Amino acid sequence: MKVLVINCGSSSLKYQLIDSETEQALAVGLCERIGIDGRLKHTPAGGEKVVLEDALPNHEVAIQNVLAALTNPTYGVIKDLSEIGAVGHRVVHGGEKFTSSVVIDDAVIEGIKECSDLAPLHNPANLIGIDACMKLMPGVPEVAVFDTAFHQTMPREAYLYGLPYEYYDKYKVRRYGFHGTSHSYVSKRVMDVAGLDPNNSKIIVCHLGNGASISAVKNGKSVDTSMGLTPLEGLIMGTRSGDIDPAIMEYIAGKEHLSLEGVMNVLNKKSGVLGMSGVSSDFRDLSAAAEAGNEHAKDAIEGFAYHVAKYVGSYAAAMNGVDAIAFTAGVGENDGVVRKAVCSHFGFLGATIDDEKNAVRGEEIIISTADSKVKLLVIPTNEELAICRETVALC
Ligand code: AMP
Repeated sequence: MKVLVINCGSSSLKYQLIDSETEQALAVGLCERIGIDGRLKHTPAGGEKVVLEDALPNHEVAIQNVLAALTNPTYGVIKDLSEIGAVGHRVVHGGEKFTSSVVIDDAVIEGIKECSDLAPLHNPANLIGIDACMKLMPGVPEVAVFDTAFHQTMPREAYLYGLPYEYYDKYKVRRYGFHGTSHSYVSKRVMDVAGLDPNNSKIIVCHLGNGASISAVKNGKSVDTSMGLTPLEGLIMGTRSGDIDPAIMEYIAGKEHLSLEGVMNVLNKKSGVLGMSGVSSDFRDLSAAAEAGNEHAKDAIEGFAYHVAKYVGSYAAAMNGVDAIAFTAGVGENDGVVRKAVCSHFGFLGATIDDEKNAVRGEEIIISTADSKVKLLVIPTNEELAICRETVALC
């Protein structure tokens, strides 16, 4: 079956058409600047990237143009839209309502709407994508795959905050966690690559990208994760602060004459390694600046790695041990220096990194030494393939 995987953001839309039998992407692409002007970048497998500058006033037009690109006689990859057997949508927040992927119907749409309060920037954009696909491909089954669903197995002690219980009761304020599709995919790959027993395994997945989160996966189930009610909690990220003393918000608001919204903007967009370094949110720029002697860039890289290591230590405690620690996403897959800095804290676990293996890029690999007590791995994530698999399983 050919599955169209859609990841709809507020002004962007990523897509892949995947052949579920070969699990290969037939085409990948990205619509940018939706509602502003519009640009569609489309790459057929084995072909050249095509950049189309047609106006994209809204998501419906964007999806219309994606479907036109997929069926284009020159750079398209299918003859007719009837070849698309199903559509899989990434949906950011499923609250407590959705504990697994579901075929989309009216009740599911209502459920996603109800969770929009918890992800006001993301869920409405996801719904627009779903609606546009339903209009343009009537009768084709559509599946919602939630970022939060994998973490719904967390025990209460992991998801309840130290806040008045009524906030959980009335407003569902709790830890949800994100990047669930990635944590699920990577932890399963770790079991295969490291030869672990799915029913007797303790895995820590470090998803280190522009957004970053860690999960503790015991016997295949998420038992804790670093992001919380929103993706702001946890690790220091590209532009997000991660964990801070909440009292800093009031203190900075007073000093800088900022509203709550202004402080939230700083924490989401101007903090993290960008804010710490004053250089960039991109680790390639940070490394270059650190090598050139920029002390703030060094602080940002070391602070980032230190926080990752602290979370790994706490999850080893939460699971009373760990068999494997995996690195994934942009930084985790590509930055051997950051991996080495993180792993330098793991002597107490008996985990040792193999420097030669750690230098390999872009493939699934065990990067620990043969005598390491804990396996260290790099596993490239593939959220689109995971969404495709979930979609096929339900259609
Ligand atoms: P993601 O959110 O998973 O797409 O990751 C994006 C981030 O990965 C970028 O902002 C960079 O910080 C990082 N990244 C991507 N490629 C490299 C690389 N070759 N070396 C170091 N960091 C990288």
